[in-house]
Formats: sequence, structure tokens, C-alpha cells
Amino acid sequence: MPGTRYPLEVQPLIPQRLARLTELAADLLYSWNRSIRALFVRLDPRLWEQCGRNPKLMLRRVAQSRLDEAAADPLFLEEYQRALSIYDTYHAVRLSSKRTDIDPRTDLVAYFCAEFGLHESLQIYSGGLGILAGDHCKAASDLGLPFVAVGLLYRQGYFTQTIDAQGNQIVGTAPALLADLPVTPVCDHEGHELRVSVTLPGGLVALKVWRVAAGRIRLYLLDSDVPENTSADRGITCQLYGGDRDTRLRQEIVLGIGGVRALRALGLAPTVWHINEGHPAFQIIERIRELTTQGQDFDSAMEVVAAGTVFTTHTPVPAGHDIFDQELFGRYLEPYVADLGITLDELKSLGSSPISQGGFNMTAFALRASRLHNGVSRIHGGVASRMEAYVWPQIPWMENPVGYVTNGVHVATFLAHEWSSLFDVRFGSEWRNKLTEADYWARIDTIPDHSYWSVHQSLKGAMLEAVQKRVTRQHRRNGAGEGVIRRLTRQLEPDAKTPLVIGFARRFATYKRAGLLFEDPKRLARLLNDPDRPVLLLFAGKAHPHDHPGQNLIRLIHEFSRSPEFEGKVILIEGYDLALARRLVTGVDVWLNTPEYPLEASGTSGQKAAINGVVNLSVLDGWWGEGYAGDNGWGICPHKGPIDNDQRTREESAEVLDILEQQVVPLYFNAAEHGYSRSWIAMSKAAMRRAMPVFNAERMVLEYARDYYRKAAGHARQLAADEAAGGRALARWKRQVSSAWSGVRLERGQDIPEAVKVGESLHLTVLVHGNGLRPDDLIVECLFESSDDLGEVLLRDQAPFVADGVDGEGRLVFRLDHEPRTSGFQTLRIRAYPYHALLAHRFELGCMVWL
Ligand SMILES: *Cc1c(COP(=O)(O)O)cnc(C)c1O
Repeated sequence: MPGTRYPLEVQPLIPQRLARLTELAADLLYSWNRSIRALFVRLDPRLWEQCGRNPKLMLRRVAQSRLDEAAADPLFLEEYQRALSIYDTYHAVRLSSKRTDIDPRTDLVAYFCAEFGLHESLQIYSGGLGILAGDHCKAASDLGLPFVAVGLLYRQGYFTQTIDAQGNQIVGTAPALLADLPVTPVCDHEGHELRVSVTLPGGLVALKVWRVAAGRIRLYLLDSDVPENTSADRGITCQLYGGDRDTRLRQEIVLGIGGVRALRALGLAPTVWHINEGHPAFQIIERIRELTTQGQDFDSAMEVVAAGTVFTTHTPVPAGHDIFDQELFGRYLEPYVADLGITLDELKSLGSSPISQGGFNMTAFALRASRLHNGVSRIHGGVASRMEAYVWPQIPWMENPVGYVTNGVHVATFLAHEWSSLFDVRFGSEWRNKLTEADYWARIDTIPDHSYWSVHQSLKGAMLEAVQKRVTRQHRRNGAGEGVIRRLTRQLEPDAKTPLVIGFARRFATYKRAGLLFEDPKRLARLLNDPDRPVLLLFAGKAHPHDHPGQNLIRLIHEFSRSPEFEGKVILIEGYDLALARRLVTGVDVWLNTPEYPLEASGTSGQKAAINGVVNLSVLDGWWGEGYAGDNGWGICPHKGPIDNDQRTREESAEVLDILEQQVVPLYFNAAEHGYSRSWIAMSKAAMRRAMPVFNAERMVLEYARDYYRKAAGHARQLAADEAAGGRALARWKRQVSSAWSGVRLERGQDIPEAVKVGESLHLTVLVHGNGLRPDDLIVECLFESSDDLGEVLLRDQAPFVADGVDGEGRLVFRLDHEPRTSGFQTLRIRAYPYHALLAHRFELGCMVWL
């Protein structure tokens, strides 16, 4: 066809009576408030889907006639008023700060992350980390926490995925038009677009600042794509996790350093700085720089800044940590070091780690430059403690300062509407305020089985239908004939004898072992093809474009899905994203997760499944190590011990198949006269009842507020007071301890008795060669330990010694006078470590000596 096609959007006029639709479209509250979303759906359901569920875009494309009809439709107007009243109430309510214990008049939490997954209309996320950050923002908004988030505006977002007829992942990009996104440029007092800048080797890079409204909180996004930048610099914020190391480093400078500058330009003064994963950790450098350019020395500035910083690490996989090559790092950070009052080498040493071989490890840096750190589940907290133990070299790893806050998911986002409606009918709307009350959720069991099951079945039907549509489109595009497509999707037909549906959807990374079930394909084929008890396996997920083994996994699943014994029984769905995730976690029967222990930090998709009554069958790793309770799903015990990886994979695969054959399938098809299995429903209810009050984002954010934010704010304030008197004193003391420590030694004052009687005190004396340290600088303590049946050493008791002057040879005398708490055989160990009242954690210095 000759001639160029010029796009023209004929934009409707929003009728006066619906004027505030524009306002509703500009607040991501729509991503977790269904009444608001429903208005747009109702306007034009097909257009809603075509616009990628983007209200702002939709308002520009919707037919004038539809808007005029709606403005004259009493039913629509009623819903419109209801949505507005929900919206206004949400914004008007002044929440008390009692629950979070963070006072908005004095405190503000700034949350930095490289990705945010709030809704599919704002594609600036890739997976778990981003969705978690989005959920954190939503819960912060719900709780009325004084909170601001900082990220990057990626026009191309993450890559889009299609899978071709050979099972190759085809990477695509879908650049968004800024006008379509729910973002607004921030302007200064004079109405000009706000700009901040960062220095890169080529000179200054200007950054535009965008604002995203998400309920009560704001997310600010930095964007280098402005005309005053060179074309290379304009591309910095183009794509999430795109480009090379160079691009990654530039992005992280923009996010960290640019992010702090943007908050300052906005007139914000956060008192707590939360760094979510290592990417934004350069913000610490900028905050220190702010102090050193005002005349403070580096060490004391570091104390003040670190005290106000919370760092969350998310991955135990070494490749998941950002490490920058020495030379690259030097070239980029050089311009900032001059202001810090330290040398480049000193800065580099803050990012050193055993795995970085001279490179700058962002995780190591973030740990050294923050005082509160955590992993994201109990197991992961332990793994992170061990993995990062080098930061506190003399401290036994289990005692180092890495804690954990188990992730949770945002219920209003991930609980299917069908369930929340059922709760509204049965429990009244109060259930929304009971998200942290375990007892309350016992009432899940009072829902009659038939009502419960019909909700699940309707979600499952909707999911199967959506999957069928997607997969049909996928195969048609790949050139498959209609007969083939029918064969491949026959199990998804509404009239097929309903199979048990197992979902497996997550990033295709090798440690997640998507292929585990296929270790024994014959056995799996028998299991799936039983005509009386059919089972269907659904797979979805992306592999990072650089992750070739991950892409091989996609091909492997694809090949199985096209082989005769698995055709129509194993289905690989392309384009995993938030919308597909919501479908799957609400619609399947079983959520399968088979990571290599202990590499799954948390695994939030299983939590989403559980709150929807979907039963987890997972390796006891990540959150499931805490969530599994025997009656709410199945736990696969990781095979630890000295076996090689192949053997372990085979054993764990056999165990999953055993559980499927012997437990999952029989329980599900144990339908008896009801047409459904009562024992299955009991398990599904237990899954929901147990997960709901624990693995939700509100509980998570409250935990951060109570155990992390409040402490960080208080501690930073304490160190910064009186022109940082505390910070200076602490820095001075740390310098002194660090130089003295190698000479500190413990010596027995007398023989240690081998036995005491119950009721008697044990008297011990220890002499300390203090190397210039005073008794107040030290704690000397005795540990009482014993071994259990498995030879594991358990701490029974610990008791501090009391300082008792100096002996003739200048040694510090410490005495203990202690009645052992338990009787029986035990062992004693005596140790000393430095002590200062202003430390955030007693082992913060990483120094300890043993007798
Ligand atoms: C929840 C979610 C994830 C994270 O789930 P995992 O269990 O950690 O893999 C990833 N991607 C999407 C789209 C999600 O919704």
C-alpha cells in the first residue's frame, strides 16, 4: 500500500460529570483498588485490555460516545461516585502513627530500589525484587507510613518475551510513550521541569524527575532521556538490567547519587534510608559527601550516615551481586572521592569481598556502610549471615548483625476479587483490618466447602480460559495448524474432565530447576496421563537474555511440551508478567517450587498462591521453610550432606514424584459423593488461613518499621546531634580499637574449676592485655554450652565478667561470679569484644578474641 501512515489519536473530551476520571487514572491506587479499576473496565472492557489495562491511555482512546453514554447512565454514575468516595476517603483519613510507631512530623523513610512492580501499566520491573518493592510501597501507603520511594524510569522497561516454534526465547522491546504512563514531571517553584545532575566521566548528565502517585505515598523516578544530554547519556535509563557493565554502573550512579539529589531538590529530608538490594548503594556516598563538604571528617560522616541506613540483601546466588571491575569503578567514582576526604583505594576497600577479586562489590559496600541489615526469610537470613561473614571476620557467622524480615505480599493486589467478595459477604469488610491477626483467620474454616470450592473452581476456569487464549495465539503466530493447536490445548477446554493443575512460573534460572520433574520422564508421563486422574502442568517464566543455561531450560520444557507423551499435558506459556502471575497464582490447584536449597531467598509467588488457597508443593527453602505446617501443603526436604549435585537432583526429583503420586493426586481425586474432595479443601483452607495473617506485606512493613526504621532514625539522630558529637566520638573510638585490637589477648587468672555443685557460684578471673584499651572499652563474657544428640553445640547460658582494676603488670582484671543456670555436663568458652554505648550492634566492629 503506497503512502506513509501517520498516527492520529482523536482524543475524547471527558464529560464534566466524569471529570475526576483523570484524577483516578493518575493514582496507582487503581492497581490495588478494584472499585476504581472497575470503572475503567466498565467503560469499555475490550479497550481496557487493548490498552494494557492502562487507565491513562484508555481515557485518551475511549470513544466519545462511550463517555457520553456513561455520563448519562445512572448505574455508571453511581459506581463513579462510589469509587470517588473510596478514593477520597483513602486520601482523607489521617492514620495514627501508633501502628508503625514512626512519627510523620519528625521522620521520613526513603526507599531506594532499581525496580518497582506496582502494575502492568508501569513496566519498570523484571520480577520478584520489583514486585516486592511495589508491595512494600502499597503497604506503606495503607499503613500511613511517612515514606517516599526512588527508582529509575525505564522507557523500555524489561524485555518482552515470546517463544518461537523451536522453544527459543525471543527478546523484544516495547518502548512506552511517556505520555501513556501514570507519571507526571516534577516542576520547581517557577513551573520549570525539575532537573538534577550527576557527574560521569564524560561530564554532567542531566536527570529529569518524574512523580508517581501511589495512594498516600510518592515514588520519584529519574530519567536521563532529556534533550540536553548526549545520545549515549540519554540511553542510560532506557532499559532495566539492559546494556553492559558500563551501563549498569551509570544506572546505579544515577539511581543512588541522582536519587539523593532529587530528594534534596524536592525539599525532602529523610531520616531513614532503606536500600533494597545493592544497586542503589551509591546513595550512601552522596549522603557522606553532603556532610564532608560541610566540613565533617569522613569517618564520623560515615557513622552518622550508616546509622540511618537499612540494607536488605535478596539473593544468595553470587551472580546476583553487583561487582564492578576495579578500573571501571575508579574511572566513574574518581570525581566523587575528592569530596569525601579519602583516597580512591580507601573507597575501593569498602567494597572488597572474597568473591569480588579486587572488584567493587555493592553488597559488601552496603553492608559496611549501613548499620541494620537483613535477609528476606529465616533461612535466607542465615545464609546471608554465613555468606557475608567476611565483613565481621572474627564473629561466628550466626551471631553477626544480619537479621531477617520475611517477605510478604500485598493482599489487596494479589487476593482474587472472588475471594475478597466472599470474605466481604461472610466476614464483613473488617477483614481488611485484620491482616496481622492470626486468630481472626480461623474463620476461613467456617466457609462451607461448597461455597469455597465454587470460588476456586470459577477462578480455575477463568485461568484455564485465559491460558488457552494466550497459548492459542502463541502457537498460531508460530505457524502451528489448527489441529495441532487443538491437541496442544485440549486440556484447557472448559468441557475437558477437569485435571489437577500444577503451576510453575518464575524466572528460568538454573537454580530454580524447572526441569526437576523431567528427570524421570516415563514416570512423569504415567502420572500426567492417567485418564481417571489427569494432571496438567503449566510453565511460564523469562530467562535473562545473558543467561544461556536459563534459556536452555526454556527449550527443554518446550521440547517436552511438544513430545507425544506430554502434548497438551505440559504447557509452556510465553510472556510471564504481573497479569499472568495473578492468573496463575489464583487459578491453579498446586504451586510447585523446586529450587536448589538454600538458594531461594524467599519466593513470594508461593505466598500469593497460598493466600488464594492454592496448595504449595515446594522445597523447604525460602518462605516455605516458615510457612509449611504439615496440614497446608507439602514440603520437600532438601537432601543436604555430602552428595554430588546430580545425585541430589535425582533424589529430590524422585521425592517430588513420590509426593505427587502418593499424596497430591490421591487427595485431590478423593471426590466421594460431593464432586469435590473434602480433604483437599481442608488443606486448601489451611493454606489460606495460615498464610493470610503472616505472609502479607503489611506484616512485613510493620516489622521493618518496628525493628529497623525506628532504630535507624533514633540512632542516626543520636549520632548527628550537637554537630555530630556522637558520630565523632564513635569514629574516634573505632579508630583506636582497630589499631589496638591485634594486640589484645586474654589470659586465665587462675585454673578453671572442673565442677561446681548446683546452687554454688563459679568464680573465674580473666586477665586482659588491653594494648591501651580501658576496661570500659571491652566486654568479657563466658558462654556455657552443651552438645545435643546430633553433636550440635547449643548455647545454654552466657554471663558477663565484671572489671576489677589493673594488676601489677598492667593487665586488666575481669572477674565472674556466676551460678550456672542448668546442671549437667557443659563446656565453657570465654571471649572479649569491644564495647561502646553508641554501637548499633554489639559485634558491629567484627572484633573478638577468645581465651
Ligand atoms: C511474585 C512475582 C515474582 C516473584 O516470584 P518468585 O516466587 O520469587 O519467583 C516474579 N514475577 C512476577 C511477575 C511476580 O508476580
